Order: sequence, then C-alpha cells, then structure tokens
Amino acid sequence: MADFLNNSVKFVPGVGEARAKLLEKELGIITIGDLLRHYPFRYIDRTRIYRIAEVNESMDSSLVQIRARVTGVGYAGTGRKQRFSAFVSDASGSAELTWFAGIKWIEKSVEVGREYLIFGRPSFYRGELQLAHPEMELVEKALSRKAHSGMQGIYPSTEKIGSTLGTKGFFNIIANAWNVTEKHITESIPDSLRAHYGLMSLREAIFNVHFPQSAEKLQQAQQRLKFDEFLGVQLSIQAQRTDRLTRRNGFLFPKVGDLFNTFFNERLPFALTGAQKRVIKEIRQDTVSGYQMNRLLQGDVGSGKTMVALMSMLLAVDNGFQACMMAPTEILARQHFATISRQTEGMNLRVAILTGSSKAAERRHALEGIASGEVNILIGTHALIEDKVQFANLGYVVIDEQHRFGVEQRARLWTKNQQPPHILVMTATPIPRTLAMTLYGDLDVSVIDELPPGRQPIRTYHYTDSARLKLWGFLREQIAAGRQVYVVYPLIQESETMDYKDLEDGFQSIVQDFPQPDYRVTVCHGKMKPQDKEESMRQFKEHEADILVATSVIEVGVDVPNATVMVIESAERFGLSQLHQLRGRVGRGGGQSYCILMSGEKLSREARKRLQAMCQTTDGFRLAELDMQLRGAGDINGTQQSGMAFDLKIANPTLDADLLQRAREAAIAILSRDPQLEHPENRGLRTLRARHAGGRKFDFSMIS
Ligand code: ADP
Ligand code: MG
Repeated sequence: MADFLNNSVKFVPGVGEARAKLLEKELGIITIGDLLRHYPFRYIDRTRIYRIAEVNESMDSSLVQIRARVTGVGYAGTGRKQRFSAFVSDASGSAELTWFAGIKWIEKSVEVGREYLIFGRPSFYRGELQLAHPEMELVEKALSRKAHSGMQGIYPSTEKIGSTLGTKGFFNIIANAWNVTEKHITESIPDSLRAHYGLMSLREAIFNVHFPQSAEKLQQAQQRLKFDEFLGVQLSIQAQRTDRLTRRNGFLFPKVGDLFNTFFNERLPFALTGAQKRVIKEIRQDTVSGYQMNRLLQGDVGSGKTMVALMSMLLAVDNGFQACMMAPTEILARQHFATISRQTEGMNLRVAILTGSSKAAERRHALEGIASGEVNILIGTHALIEDKVQFANLGYVVIDEQHRFGVEQRARLWTKNQQPPHILVMTATPIPRTLAMTLYGDLDVSVIDELPPGRQPIRTYHYTDSARLKLWGFLREQIAAGRQVYVVYPLIQESETMDYKDLEDGFQSIVQDFPQPDYRVTVCHGKMKPQDKEESMRQFKEHEADILVATSVIEVGVDVPNATVMVIESAERFGLSQLHQLRGRVGRGGGQSYCILMSGEKLSREARKRLQAMCQTTDGFRLAELDMQLRGAGDINGTQQSGMAFDLKIANPTLDADLLQRAREAAIAILSRDPQLEHPENRGLRTLRARHAGGRKFDFSMIS
C-alpha cells in the first residue's frame, strides 16, 4: 500500500490539480495517504435533528442540524463585502443562513419554498439564530441516503477549504479516496502484535475512522490508528536512543575543579534547594558516564533553573571545555549574561555574549574569544548557531526555555562538533517523561519540584474593563509600597498593526493616569531598537521605573524580584502556558504577588475556561495538562506552535497516555529482537517508523 498511498492526492476523483494545490497549501495534504490520514477530530450524530427553538447560545462551539423551509433570500453589502442570506423557519422558530463567499453557486442551489436539512455552527445575533456557511441538502434527498450509524466525521479544516469544498465536498473526496485505495491497503504491523494488543486491522480502522459503522467500531478504529502513530514514534525514538548509547562518545567531566568549588563555597548567593542539588548531581553522573548527555530539565517558573545551568557550565569549564547557553530572546540572553557575569566577577572565567544585535566590537570579541578558546562561556540567542560561530572546544550546551525555539534551530547547534556536546534543555512547561519523549525525542528528564524557600503563592484575579478604576487604585497602592508592576499586551502576528496600536494607546493612558513625577512608566516591545529595549529593561530592573508596559517579549525568563503585580491585558488572547509564563515574572521575591487577567465581557467558552484555570491554580503541571486538553485534537495551529517534534494526527500524548505506554513497551520488545527491523514481517513497521522519522531531524544528539 505504501506505494499507492504515496501517489498525489490529485488522482483522487473530485480533486484534480487546483484542489490538490489547495489541500497542500491549507492542510499539508500532498499524497492520498495524507488524505486518508486526515482524520476527523469529532463526530456528530446526523440522525439528531434540532428544532430551531432548541438551539441556544450554550451550543456555540458545537455543530447542529435543523430541518427547515426556506422562506426568502436577500443580499447585503457590495463587492468583496457582499453577503447572501437565506431565511428559514420550522414550526418552532426562524433562523438566518449567511454566505460570504461562493455566493454565485449557493444562490442557484437554494430554492425558496423547499425544505432542507441544514447543518452548521450556530451563532446568535440579537437573539436570532444564525448559521454561517452551513451545509444544506434537500430533505427528501437526505432521507433517501443510507444512514450507516448516523455518525459523521468533522474534519480539521480551514476557512478556505470550508468555503471552497464545504463539509460535504470534503467528505466526498474522502469517500472517493477510500474507494480507490481500499484494495491497496496492507497491514502495517505483524499479526502477532495485533493479536497481542487486540487491535483492529488497519483496513477496517481506516474505514471506520472515516465512516463509523458503530460507536464501538469507531472507538476500536481510533485505538488502532493511535497505536500506529505512537508505535512509529517510539520505534524512531528507541532507535535514536540505542544509537546514542552504543556510541559511547560523550565527553568526560571527571573533575570538580576550582571554578565550581570557589563558586560553591564563596559565591553562591543563597543555599541551593534540595531539588537543585539533586539535578546538579544527575548532570554530574551523566557527564562522567562516557555517554553523551541529553537531558531535559523541567522546573516551574521561578524554581531556579539558571543556577543549575551556571553551576553545570562551571563543571564543563573546570574540565577544559567551553560551554554555551542559548536563550530564546535578546532580553533574556542579556539578562543571563548580566547575572552570570555579576555572580562570577573576579573569578578566573571569561563570559561573552553574542546576539543578533551585537555590535561589531562585541561580536568580534565573542567570535575571536570562542575560536581561540579564551572565552569559556558564551551566552546568546540563536545567533549562536550561525555558521560563523566556531568553538575551539565546545563540550556543554544549555538551551533555556526550549519550547520557544523552533525545533530546527535547536538541532543545528551541535552539528558544530565532531563529537557531540552534552546537552541540557531547560523548560518551565512540565510534562510527564513519556510525553516529553514523544514531544522532544530521546531525552532523560530531571525535575526541580521545589521552589526556593519563602515564596508565597501568587494570587490571580480575572477582571473585566469595568473594574479598571479599581485596578488602577490597587496599582497605586502597590507602587506606594515600593513595588513594581508589569502591564503586558498581546501581540499576535496577523494583527500586528492593531496590536501595536492597543499597546501604544494603553501606554498613553497609563502615562496619563500615572503622571510624573510620582510615577515612572517605561515601555518595551519588539519594534524598539535593541538598545532602547535594553535601556527600558535596565530602568525597570534598577527600579528607575515603577511600571513596565510591554508586549509578551518579557514572557520568558525575565527576573525582577521586586515586581509584584503582573497585569495581562486581553488575557483571553493568550494560551495557558503563555499566561503561566507571564505570571511567573512575579512572585520571585519575598512579597505577596498578584496576577490580574483583564478581558472584555464577552468570552468564548474556551477562553473562559483558561482564565478560570489560571485563577484556580498556580501549578504549572496542572495547567500544562489542561492546556493540552483544551486545545485537543483538530487544532492544527496549536500542534504546530507547540513545537512537537513528531507529527501526530490522531494520538494525543496526554489523553492517550496508556496507549503511549503500551506502544513504548511494544517498540522496545520489537527492537530487542530485530534492531534494524529487517525481518520480513516487520516491513510495515519500517514504513511506520520512517513516517515518524521526522523526529530524527530534531534529535538532540544527531551529529551527522
Ligand atoms: P527559572 O527556573 O524560572 O529560570 P530563575 O533561575 O530565574 O528561575 O530563578 C528565579 C529567582 O529565584 C531568581 O531571582 C534566583 O536568583 C532565585 N533563586 C534561585 N535559586 C534559589 C535558591 N535556592 N534560593 C533562593 N533564591 C533562589
Ligand atoms: Mg529561566
């Protein structure tokens, strides 16, 4: 089947060149296999027909089906803004159907006076039910259709696909793809394995996932397809791991030398927490083992990961190696550089910085020092992975807040060495070990599960704009008590111009409401010149400013312990993990800290859940889980943004953790008998692994 499924999707009846292009551009579907692996993320019961009066506002994110007669049609707007409406009613009430595109076609197919089955997403305007771009079919025609189980899949889609193909059009090409492919589907996993795990055949699974014959069959189909994905990923990861562990080419850091000892005995500004000590020990064990370390360090925001990074870099330097630390933003890199330079001042250690905006002198200093070996620790942004940066003897790499990096960027760093450096990847997004492996590949995991002493939990509140006066009063109190405040605005690429205007307006009004000389307000965002950004951060750090108005550039890592209030504007537009990161900017000193989430009155159900979750818990682990659940499957952008190294279409590592565990066991067992998957019965597994070998490209230990 592999060969057949690799044919272009354009050969599926009803697709052709133009639609094939569209499918590729919008959904990344190139081959027939891609199309059949484009699974529904939800199913609706097409036998359920609502009365118009039954549909209410709480159903806004679901799809409903009504049976109603068209009573009239109308047009509004002109040119590109044109809109076509059909008015429909049943015995219980009336509704408006609207189209903003494809009007020519739809106006021809809607007949006044006839009765249709209408299917779409409800919304309400002035209490009246509206359905935009619904799918419709004449009642007599719909009823004559053979209803299998009544369940119909809802596919991940985009606006363009929706307006060009429609739900039904998409469904039709899936059906055509199935018809031409059915006979070519061969089993991907050996019968013995299938029997052992009680899995449905691949052919039956593909059929039922698209055309469920019953709820039970659908469930089995989903299990089977999820298992295939997890198994492919696990086969790929386990192979990487075996590879890494058979090479035994890790640098050795046997010595705890002067730098580490001097720092530990004389410089350490506080006692390490038990968790910090334990992680440093784990790193030490790895770096004397002879294997290359590939370790993920998870620790909630504020748990003190930077100190672990610094002390482990000192170990590397003590053993004659260079170390580097890569941060996701300029601000963060500069902050690390400042902190580490300060903490190691006067020691026999040279620390340099390199970022995209390093000026000539700074750049030269860094590049020459790194090439000659004089610089021991290099801190920077992804400028560190430019080709020009040649290390004399790189032995250790720390990647801070790794979820912010594109996966490709991460992978480039160690192609710089013949022998791979040890890698420590730090993140504040806590995820279970097996999940981490699925997301990021072959990694060991350390956890800092303890905050430095004396921290009080941050109090989080959700306010709407009507509470702004109250909020301003609260900020004045905090500032009078000597505290500092962040006010953060979202910045979403697509609407950048508008977002900057929001920030600009917000800044102006804050400056007005918090006038000088009593209050000092500064601003920091991505469009400012690097030196201006730096200056504004410096002012805030040194308490020359009371309020910092910023975009989410300060989301990660920024450390100003005296700041106790984080105000997040339009908080509904941020994801949970971003909100948690932002909140982590406060609560770093001893004082009681607060996070205020501002939003409009009207919120989608999901946004409301996110904000509620933030108010209820400060536990990053809980939030990460909720985030995965809220985003769920079918969220194409979400998956891309989360930087997943593996392309999972149906399996969800959080929700299907058990299955993931089983696939992992299976992969280990299979590879122990047939490491290269050479056995004929494992041929399908090879294909499966190859499909998920995409993850290899992001492998931390790859040095090819
Ligand atoms: P994160 O894990 O979010 O990167 P940081 O490394 O920025 O956290 O540390 C947060 C704050 O806690 C910093 O101000 C740091 O100096 C302080 N800190 C780190 N470790 C300890 C400790 N063991 N005791 C007290 N304060 C600590
Ligand atoms: Mg940090």
